[in-house]
Amino acid sequence: MSVWNPWHGCRKISPGCANCYVYRRDESIGKDASAVTKTGDFDLPLKKDRKGKYKLTPEGGTVFTCMTSDFFLDEADAWRPACWDMIRARTDLHFFIITKRIGRFRECAPPDWGDGWDNVTVCSTCEDQTRADLRLPVLLDLPLKHRELIGEPMLGPVEMEKYLATGLIEHVTCGGESGPKARPCEDKWIREVRRECIRQGVPFTFKQTGAVFVMDGRTYRIERKDQIPQARKSGWSYVPGENSGAAVVYRLPPREALREALGRSAFRSRFHLSEEDRKYVAEKGMETVRRHAAEIVAKRLAPENPDNDGKQTPMKGHPVFIAQHATACCCRACLEKWHHIPAGKVLTEEEQAYVTAVITDWIEGETAPAP
Ligand code: SF4
Ligand SMILES: [Zn+2]
Repeated sequence: MSVWNPWHGCRKISPGCANCYVYRRDESIGKDASAVTKTGDFDLPLKKDRKGKYKLTPEGGTVFTCMTSDFFLDEADAWRPACWDMIRARTDLHFFIITKRIGRFRECAPPDWGDGWDNVTVCSTCEDQTRADLRLPVLLDLPLKHRELIGEPMLGPVEMEKYLATGLIEHVTCGGESGPKARPCEDKWIREVRRECIRQGVPFTFKQTGAVFVMDGRTYRIERKDQIPQARKSGWSYVPGENSGAAVVYRLPPREALREALGRSAFRSRFHLSEEDRKYVAEKGMETVRRHAAEIVAKRLAPENPDNDGKQTPMKGHPVFIAQHATACCCRACLEKWHHIPAGKVLTEEEQAYVTAVITDWIEGETAPAP
């Protein structure tokens, strides 16, 4: 990747700006980050070396544009047209623009923008639900060839599935906040966005934990050097078709402990086989029911991104469906939460056998004659 910072300095406009790293870095060297100034690199995309070759080359990767400011900042209105000219000239490069001012896009776009330029990705940040609901409808409505989302620093849960369902968002990145005043980021916010991305087939990157990460209700301080590696280790990033969850180390829960935990759940222990279901099992025999369970697991749970995930298991119609709800084998989110099997990957044969066994154990318990 390359970086092009045509100007430097910014104005805070959003909760995500509170601990802005541009401000933090400038303060540490006695500089005022609110003073917006053109940089010496203003015309970097046109700069050539002594051999007459462009300094920025496609081999250098995506050009991250305006990383120490905001491309759509009012203060830069006079300078932006020249930047568009350079972006237009360098169709061999891809420019990635992250903004908290997506609402200004239309008034700031060049006159020949049309239905978007192939070499520009516009990425809107949304650090909380309010910002997501304000900015994402705008982002989706703009004429753009490439759109992405960044939830960084994530400051709360963000439901974004309905925006992802448009199929217009190419990638979602989430992460925590760094720095000494960092606000906490919670694992459950990240995991929920991840699940939404998996359901909608959108690539997801958990980039870094931030300095204060809450995991299973416990707060951890994470050193700067560990924030990216820790996020990578979680295995939560999701690339459709890459089956990356397979790389995560986890253990299927012992069946006895699982049964106890399920028994403590009012929701799960509510499920029982009906008279009709019991009769079905008696007539077909356990071997047939086991085969049905294996087929249902293979078809409705095992794919990397099952159809209708979260709603694929009916509440009646087959004893296996009831058993799936009772044992939290109903969807990939429940498999992840209760059985530690990461969503977003194909279930291995071993995992399918485990899920099938959990289901049939429960049915056998339900149909066993009372002692
Ligand atoms: S918009 Fe970005 S660069 Fe500007 S103050 Fe906010 S966080 Fe910093
Ligand atoms: Zn479920």
